[in-house]
Amino acid sequence: MKSIRERLLERFYRYLAIPSQSQANGGMKVPSTESQWNMARTLKQECEALGLRDLYLSPHCVLTGWLPARLPEGHPHQVPKVGFCTHMDTVNVNLSPEIHPHLIRNYDGRDILLNASRDIVMKTSEHPELLRYKGQDLIVADGTSVLGSDNKAAVANVMTALETLVENPQLPHGDLYVAFVPDEEVGLFGSKNLDFSRFPVDFAYTIDCCELGEVVYETFNAGSAEITIHGISAHPMSAKGVMVNPTLLAVDFVNFFDRAETPECTEGKEGYIWVQALRANKSTAVVELSIRDHDKTKYEAKKATVLRNVERLRKQEPRARIECMIHDTYGNIADAVTKENHKAIDLLYDAMKILGITPKTIAMRGGTDGSFISTKGILTPNYFTGGMNFHSRFEFLPVDSFEKSYEMTMTLIDLISQGGK
Ligand SMILES: [Zn+2]
Repeated sequence: MKSIRERLLERFYRYLAIPSQSQANGGMKVPSTESQWNMARTLKQECEALGLRDLYLSPHCVLTGWLPARLPEGHPHQVPKVGFCTHMDTVNVNLSPEIHPHLIRNYDGRDILLNASRDIVMKTSEHPELLRYKGQDLIVADGTSVLGSDNKAAVANVMTALETLVENPQLPHGDLYVAFVPDEEVGLFGSKNLDFSRFPVDFAYTIDCCELGEVVYETFNAGSAEITIHGISAHPMSAKGVMVNPTLLAVDFVNFFDRAETPECTEGKEGYIWVQALRANKSTAVVELSIRDHDKTKYEAKKATVLRNVERLRKQEPRARIECMIHDTYGNIADAVTKENHKAIDLLYDAMKILGITPKTIAMRGGTDGSFISTKGILTPNYFTGGMNFHSRFEFLPVDSFEKSYEMTMTLIDLISQGGK
């Protein structure tokens, strides 16, 4: 019989062999890439073989299904319905969509040559976090791509857990729902297209952060703003008093904002407004902003600042026509916490205690699928995959941490079957 470790690795490699990079398009088309269907179809087949119920692959490539509870007769506890949401896409950071993983056994603590022909080396001087894993087995990529433990380690984790439960009828569990979503990396568009009637859970988890022990239930409130400035073009020979240059107005607008409230000047729980793009020609300029803050009130205040600055620009140049669109993208998971569902977070710490893992709670400067799902009233905290250096060619996955992440899933399921105590 294969060990858990072998089964996890086999599955992980199988999913890595299916390229499924997503491609930012503002949610115009979900899934953003055809390749993500290959992941979804593979998972659908595997879930079918495991006997999951109501398996459904939606037109937006969201795969849902559930494993009915199996509890001993006369089970004394009310068992909540729990969901696991993992994303099938890997991030596009201008690296190859093809992933070639490589297992390093018993890492010796030295620099790692990822790719000899391209001379790509992961140096311990640049990545001192490597040294914490001396003596362990590590999975790395070949330097031409990310590794994709974000989030295929989680997909492998959940699928292996389901397989273990199906094959071991003595293990009790409640109703378990799964959602495999595309396009997390390009704006959570998979979970935004999740049909919640197919995911009717009391709470859920994502497994989408990094190092062993990491727990996230605080994320940003996030939104975007697009400001379009229509100027008036004119030939220079007759421009005096006529031309309204949208480029100059866009520059003025950007300068209205506080330079201390940018991503490069903030950390921890400080929010920011990030000028992401400025595109301009003779007649029109477009400014794109990202707005982020953990605190909902401060987030709303930042949105109000954007609107105030738009008004200021309109007053400064009444001849320009200025449009402003603001969208909320996702919310802070913590804002979905109630007395009833707080248990979903407590269970994470209970499971870590049982497994001897030291928790590392992080207020994430970003969002997860749970940041959207939580806005629907389903509290969805996030725990570690074990992977390190997400979104980088230097991403690596320590196998011990990967296995611990799987044990977290199994322990959570077990604790929940006991009524979440
Ligand atoms: Zn992820």
